[in-house]
Amino acid sequence: MSFKNKFLELLPVFVQDIIISFYGYILIKQRYGDEYYQYRNSLLEQESKSSADLLVEQNILLDDFVRFSYENSKFYQSLYKKVDFDQAITLESLAELPIVTKEMLRTNLDDVYTIDCDQGISSFTGGTTGKSLQVVFTKEDFQKRMAYLDAYKIRLGIDPFESKKATFSGREFTRGWATSFTNKFWRNNWAYKQRLYSTFDMVEGNLPFYVQDLNRYKPEVINGFVSAIFQLAKFIEQKQLTLDFQVKAIFTTSETLLPFHRELIERVFKCPVYNQYASAEGAPFITECSAGSLHYNTDTGVIEVIETNAGTEMLVTSFTTHGTPLIRYKIGDLIKFKTGECRCGSLHPLVDSIDGRQVEFLISKQYGHVSLSHLADVIKGLPNCVINVQFQQHKVDLIEVLLNVDQTLYDQEAEDKIAKALMHRFGKDTEFIFKLVGHIPKESSGKFSLIKNFIK
Ligand SMILES: [Zn+2]
Repeated sequence: MSFKNKFLELLPVFVQDIIISFYGYILIKQRYGDEYYQYRNSLLEQESKSSADLLVEQNILLDDFVRFSYENSKFYQSLYKKVDFDQAITLESLAELPIVTKEMLRTNLDDVYTIDCDQGISSFTGGTTGKSLQVVFTKEDFQKRMAYLDAYKIRLGIDPFESKKATFSGREFTRGWATSFTNKFWRNNWAYKQRLYSTFDMVEGNLPFYVQDLNRYKPEVINGFVSAIFQLAKFIEQKQLTLDFQVKAIFTTSETLLPFHRELIERVFKCPVYNQYASAEGAPFITECSAGSLHYNTDTGVIEVIETNAGTEMLVTSFTTHGTPLIRYKIGDLIKFKTGECRCGSLHPLVDSIDGRQVEFLISKQYGHVSLSHLADVIKGLPNCVINVQFQQHKVDLIEVLLNVDQTLYDQEAEDKIAKALMHRFGKDTEFIFKLVGHIPKESSGKFSLIKNFIK
């Protein structure tokens, strides 16, 4: 949804709500059509499949998808010139096809598309590297992706249409005078029983308004950015505020969910957090089940792994990207698989962790890459007086630590404690500069970066 329309800012909040809800209604009509209901229902009626059946199904879907891409995308036609299509494409033969990098996709984008941009639904990938990529989904694929996630939520006992939802994502709609006048940092999409909370306005002084409003609204489900929900939970705990509602589930997306995020969010909201991986490019889904395991959903695509400097990277082939086919696409995210079976009954393979974007690392002279999950221990052990932190690196032997702290509690002892934990991670050759700041800005996407690596 784009709320960039300037004229919206001039209107009172309730009129904005009406317009947003009307727009929401149109989107529902467009996006939840026959394809959505058919696919969602077929998923819900499905019995658990055996590993062998899952494999057969995945191979069939893969062969169909690669053939479709070869026949409909100029880019893949020339990339697969030498591929023998008399044979079926299987998980084994897939490994012989060339890897597609972000740069290849970017420079050949017009040839990759199988449809015109205005025929489908566009999605823009994150601009961490400054360059965003426009991916186009066919309407059918878009509906299928919605259906897959909704069927997943229904199995967890959440009806995505009937539940009251509080959503924290990167939409800008609170710029106008109406917000500063009313302190309403949210808008309503009544058509979808959804209240959209602005992540851009989540500064310390505004957070009491967010908590008060959540207590009035009483959502049943919270979804959105990890950083925003974490920030809110931290504020509620620190100020010992009470919540007058009980959510059934929290679904986090878009950012890496680290163990310390989960612990705090679950403790404050007293409900399970479900992690999902579904990138803007349209990667295969990885979803967390009722037993708390992450499953790689083999009916949505293929995830292969390759070892790189950054660790074990994913190569994704996604069955719902007919508009902008992704086959062996090096998406830049890291993954760890694990063996074993889950007690939830699903035989979709288990994922140990999704280790964040490849860009989420700093460099240590002594130890090489220090990833976000390595830093998680440092962040978890931060003294309570630290409200927020960001690690910035411009030189290989120097890390700047931006700290937003409670000045009445912060002292040398707290700083020494952080320095010691960092030294343990980075070794003795790295210097740390601590900068106390009143506010650490978010990214233009509304997300928050714990790490900013300017070297790379
Ligand atoms: Zn499971």
